[in-house]
Parts: sequence; C-alpha cells; structure tokens
Amino acid sequence: MARSPLSGIEEELAGLEQQALLRRLRTVEPVGGSGVLELDGREVDGFSSNDYLGLSRHPALREAAARAAARYGCGSGASRLVCGSLPVHRELEERLAEFKGTEAALTFSSGYAAAVGCISAVVGSGDVVILDKLAHASLIDGARLSGAHLRVFPHNHLEKLAAHLDWAARRHPGARVLVVTESVFSMDGDRAPLADIVRLKEAAGALLLVDEAHATGVLGRGGRGLCELAGVSGSVDLQLGTLSKALGAAGGYVCARRLLVDLMVNRARSFVYSTAPPPPVAAAALAGLELLAGEEGAALLKRLNTHCLEMEQAGFGPVQSAIVPVAMGEAARALSAAEQLLRAGFFVPAIRYPTVPRGRARLRVTLSACHESSRVLALCRELKGLGPLPGDLGD
Ligand SMILES: *Cc1c(COP(=O)(O)O)cnc(C)c1O
Repeated sequence: MARSPLSGIEEELAGLEQQALLRRLRTVEPVGGSGVLELDGREVDGFSSNDYLGLSRHPALREAAARAAARYGCGSGASRLVCGSLPVHRELEERLAEFKGTEAALTFSSGYAAAVGCISAVVGSGDVVILDKLAHASLIDGARLSGAHLRVFPHNHLEKLAAHLDWAARRHPGARVLVVTESVFSMDGDRAPLADIVRLKEAAGALLLVDEAHATGVLGRGGRGLCELAGVSGSVDLQLGTLSKALGAAGGYVCARRLLVDLMVNRARSFVYSTAPPPPVAAAALAGLELLAGEEGAALLKRLNTHCLEMEQAGFGPVQSAIVPVAMGEAARALSAAEQLLRAGFFVPAIRYPTVPRGRARLRVTLSACHESSRVLALCRELKGLGPLPGDLGD
C-alpha cells in the first residue's frame, strides 16, 4: 500500500506539543477601546497587540476607511502596474515619504511583503546581505530569496559587522552589499546602535536597510522612528516599516530615494505580482499618519511613554520601546506563566522557539496608549507575583 502523503504530520504536531511549542489560534473579541478583550467568555486586559497608539479602533481611521469603501469599494482589483494606482495609494506614499524625510515611498500589502520584496529587488546572486542575528523572519526570508551571500552578526555586535563588511570587500569586490537591521527589535524591545552602523556602512560603501516596524509611531519626533531620533534618516538607504502596528491599519512600506523606489516598482515581486492594498486600508493608514501629526498624536505618544516609565519604575527596565520582554527561560515555564496571568485577567503572550532561541522563552508585554495606567501597574504586580525570574534574556 502506498504511504499516505499526510503521514508524519500528526507525529510532528504531537512532537511540538510535547516540547510546549505547539501554537493554537484563539478567538478574542475587543471590548471598548482600552485594550480589554473577551477571551473564552471572560474579559481580560490585552498586553499583546502591536497597536501601540490604539489607532486601529480610532473613529478617525474607521471613518476614513468607511468613506474609502463607499467611494472605491473594498478591493483594489489588481496590482497597480496592471490597473493603476488610486489617488489614496499615491497620497499615502507622498505622506510616508514626507514623514520619513525621503524622496519617495512604496507601499505593499503587508510589512512582510515589503521586506521580502525590497531585499530581493535590491540585491541578487553575487551580492552580499549582512543581517543582525535577531532580524525579523521577513528580513531573513527576503535575504534568502534574493540569492545573495548571507552573513549574520551577533545581535548589535559592531566589531562583527565590521568584520563581515571587510570580508565582503575582499571576497566579493564589486558586489552590492546590504546591511539589514531592525531599529527596535520585535522580541527584545531593545534598540540598534544606528549611528555606529551608519558609520560602518558608509566607510564600506554598503547600503543599509532599517526595519522600523516597532519604532514608527513610538519613537522620534512625532513618532517618525529611531532613524529620526538618532539623526540618521538621511543616511539610511531603505527605511522599511509597517502600517499595521502603531499606524493602526495594514500594509508595509519602504521609504527611499526615487531611484530605489523605481527599482522596486520593477523588481519587487511581492509588489508586482500582488493586488494593491485595499482602498479602505490605505485610507485608514493615511488617516493614522494625519492623526499622528496632530495634537492628539502627540498626546497619545506621551501617554505611551508614561506607560513605558511605569514599567521601568516597577523594575522591568530598561524600557527602550513599547515592547517589554520578561525572561522565562524554558518554553514550558513561559507557557505556564502566561496561563497564570490569563487567570489573573491579563493576556500576555508566551514567546517561544523558533521565534526566539531555545531556552530563552519569554513573556512579551506590549504597551499601548489605549491602556489605563491602573491596569499597567496591576500587570506589574502580577508579573512580580510569578516568583523569581531568570533576570535577563541570556545572550
Ligand atoms: C510585524 C513585523 C513585520 C511585518 O509586518 P506586517 O505588516 O505585520 O506583515 C516586519 N518586520 C518586523 C520587525 C515586524 O515586527
């Protein structure tokens, strides 16, 4: 009898469960606007979303989406090269370029698509990509897809980055070299030393891509990101990010020189071969950017910053972004801590291998301007009640 094409799958899933690494989807229903969720029939405080400013449910974004839906419908119909760009796509890109201080911008259907498309458009086989060890999966996938030679440096390790740049110059003279990092790291919440990285890449004549997924709408003047805060926006060749986190909508973007955007329009396959972002979603992102630029945006950024200070003062620091990891060590420990928190009314995800290395599982607390201070402080008390913690994430 022929072997079933599905054989081994049950065992594979059982194996994951045995190692406390099985993931399951759960359905939640947001209640009100302060991050409260209904989960399994109970209300809990959500500290898991990347909706850092609470914009995803903001009336201004909802209304912008509804107006765009009424005018243009729900879908875009085809890729923009095939059916043209709508005014909302063009306006969104103009606004993004202005926000990030670049000549041009290009939007994609997601941040993942932006990362994969951008890297594989800018470099190819024979070129070199040098990545921070903790770079997001989308950046790694883009680098792999590009067919370029890959080198990884230990997290934020400048000497190792310099050594890889030297290696690239010696071994692949004439190749295009792209350095890739995040500005705020998605699972650790710490920051990259961008000014030093810029210095190294300029000395080496390399390009630099910085993924600002967790810094846009969080850090820098008016939420422009860490590139702006570090004063290096003009030297970062590709400022990548997502419209799906602090900006409250969905989609990815790359802000860059016109030349690089023109290259992506022609070569980024996740742009060329994918339907344009839905008009309501693009309109919501545009409204998110507009809101961020105004007084209300400033007030939300301030409120988020207050929560960061509250966590830091409670001993969960240094808090360098809206992401606060609490080290747990083994996956099983992280899972049971997450369950204990859930019983106490807090939804905080356990982050496990392969998202983070084995033995470095953690709870990942994300703060949002939509939270009430009293709930942030209550979460801190509950986290302390978990007993002695490993202390650091263990490098
Ligand atoms: C979330 C994230 C992305 C992907 O963005 P989506 O819009 O969710 O696809 C890319 N890079 C980093 C660092 C992220 O955290």
